[in-house]
Amino acid sequence: MTMPEQKRRVTVIGSGPAGLTAAVYSARANLEPLVIEGIQAGGQLMLTTEVENYPGFIDGIMGPELMENMRAQAARFGTEFRTENVTEVDFTRAPFTIKTADSTVVSDTVIISTGASALMLGVPGEKELLGHGVSTCATCDGFFFRNQEILVIGGGDSAMEEANFLTRFASKVTVVHRRDTLRASKIMQDRAKANPKIEFVWDSAVTEVFGNGKVAGARLKNLKTGAESELAAGGVFVAIGHVPNTPLFEGKLELAGGYITTQDGGTQTSVPGVFAAGDVVDFRYRQAVTAAGMGCMAALDAERYLEGMPVTPQNW
Ligand code: NAP
Repeated sequence: MTMPEQKRRVTVIGSGPAGLTAAVYSARANLEPLVIEGIQAGGQLMLTTEVENYPGFIDGIMGPELMENMRAQAARFGTEFRTENVTEVDFTRAPFTIKTADSTVVSDTVIISTGASALMLGVPGEKELLGHGVSTCATCDGFFFRNQEILVIGGGDSAMEEANFLTRFASKVTVVHRRDTLRASKIMQDRAKANPKIEFVWDSAVTEVFGNGKVAGARLKNLKTGAESELAAGGVFVAIGHVPNTPLFEGKLELAGGYITTQDGGTQTSVPGVFAAGDVVDFRYRQAVTAAGMGCMAALDAERYLEGMPVTPQNW
């Protein structure tokens, strides 16, 4: 059994751009935030290489370095970090209770920024080459693939959107889908099919991504005939969906499609005093800079709540 500690004013769960920005703002507001950063701290940017679209870095910055900087910035203003996973939350009464394997935290407000995870294929080479030609974000990485041939894996709206976007840079984009019909909406399908730079490989699964330190291509298997083949490519974009990291909050907060619902265009969840920011809420933009912006919003909303002000648009 663990003893409850001194009550916190703000506890942030998760340490991607949303959580760390929330921490910077809360710390600078003298709220001495605690960030329970998770065992795999830093979020999805820890899995990327170069980030060229985060404002303020003229020559770009490596994803892990950007996260290290954000963490150091939050620490500089007095944020306390705990490198643990949250195992249980109780939001039925304030102050709220957050449990990890080793501690029980009681907090007046909670900011949830646990993010989302891109689904991966789980084939050999994919993990090793992530950030070296394997990507889960065309907006982030498409620019690095000028005049190269690219594979996009998946048959949903994301795959179509990524394929279309990538034709701005790539010489050719091949969509590899495991069936012979797309799941994507008709308008997205039509757009992709009408794009002269996009080709489709149907009924096929990727069985391996290969390359020596950098993607050189993928091995495919036709699921109807069993025939195996290899496709040369400089990039493999996996676009088979995302899952928000919300199992911990099921039945405790209002969710929609697994994502946390927020109110009035702000960050207030269905429980007053519990706020959410970043990819755990946002399935639309999914950018580091939008997550950071929402983290700032959550910190300001939490501050308002602590001042006893209702968090509504009229107050702003
Ligand atoms: P999705 O609709 O779930 O589609 C995932 C695709 O990946 C499916 O085609 C699926 O194949 C395939 N897939 C899943 N697991 C796979 C695996 N292990 N190996 C190979 N292929 C696999 O996901 P999404 O495209 O990310 O879209 C998610 C939601 O966001 C949808 O509601 C979508 O409409 C929405 N969205 C909208 C837009 C837009 O309107 N602009 C853009 C992006 C996303 P099967 O078809 O065989 O299941």
